[in-house]
Amino acid sequence: MRSWGSVGHYIQGPGVLADVRRYADRFGGSHLFLVDSYVQGLLAPALYAAYDDDDVYETVLFEGDITRHSVERIETRIGDGFDVIISVGGGTVIDVAKMIASKKHVALVVCPTIASTDAPTSAMSILYSDEGEMNEIVIHRANPDLVLVDTRVIAAAPRRFLISGIGDALSTYYEGLSNDHTGHANYVWCDTGQGRASIAGRAIARACFETLFADAPAALVACDLKVPTPAFENVVEANILLSGIGFENVGCSIAHGIGNAITAIPEGERAMHGERVAFGTLCLLIAEDYPAEEIDRVISFCVRCGLPITFGALGLDPSREDLEKIAEAALAAESWAASPTAICDVAGVVDLMRVADALGCVAHL
Ligand SMILES: [Zn+2]
Repeated sequence: MRSWGSVGHYIQGPGVLADVRRYADRFGGSHLFLVDSYVQGLLAPALYAAYDDDDVYETVLFEGDITRHSVERIETRIGDGFDVIISVGGGTVIDVAKMIASKKHVALVVCPTIASTDAPTSAMSILYSDEGEMNEIVIHRANPDLVLVDTRVIAAAPRRFLISGIGDALSTYYEGLSNDHTGHANYVWCDTGQGRASIAGRAIARACFETLFADAPAALVACDLKVPTPAFENVVEANILLSGIGFENVGCSIAHGIGNAITAIPEGERAMHGERVAFGTLCLLIAEDYPAEEIDRVISFCVRCGLPITFGALGLDPSREDLEKIAEAALAAESWAASPTAICDVAGVVDLMRVADALGCVAHL
């Protein structure tokens, strides 16, 4: 069975946030903004400029971690009586908005202010425990109705966010190939556990990969200058749209398995999601026995983009026990089964990560 899922609509360009009211009105006239403190401080004037009356919108500030409790608190505070949730900010506030829109059956407009992950377009929220550990993945009935990406806002964010998004997007194509080899299911309504990548899903994953290799270095230069050039626009689309639709439709494997497992040790939180996934992608290529030229190509790409591919660059100095802890978490993840790798025990995963780190160190010499 093939399955396909997607964000409803996607609009990207410099200054598009100024038209947020016009776009949101397509889903209903009463709007609720769910924003983080960065947005509240910097973007509020631009965001609300189109509203001359405050009876058609309300703003709720979300801060802190996304947990079952924090989502319930916001849900109670918000109440009912609005047609559209407009979520503006980073990954956390977007994931909270997905939870609330899904529970209240209202439309969701997502306006990311950074391009650090592929979360804005997906139907997924990642929840944390009260102790701060990632512990639950929630798959919603639908993806956001509209993702509105203002590239002037994205270009104003620090380059590390864009780099992290590039790392996350880099994994999509290779993880899709893992799933192709094993016949593992994708994430489209994954409770059925049956969907496989469609031609459309595979084509998007490939386009994501090609766009990054063509445009990422130039996009980072543009980011430094805070100018949304065509190369920058391409990479933002790759990070947010192509990677987001891509991973849901072709599935994840050990790049995310290892990338997420790095947080099993406290120092793992120093690196961003996409940075850890880039290191995981190098591990995937080694574990799945890719040709040396392909591995070299990815290593050079990572070095050029400033993506960390060594323990040191990830902010780690792991002991043998640390590596075993990461390996155990990686093997326990569902995504490990999506890979055709023959590595299936803790010692094997530890060696895999040590080899990846050593190759990364050589590349930095
Ligand atoms: Zn990811």
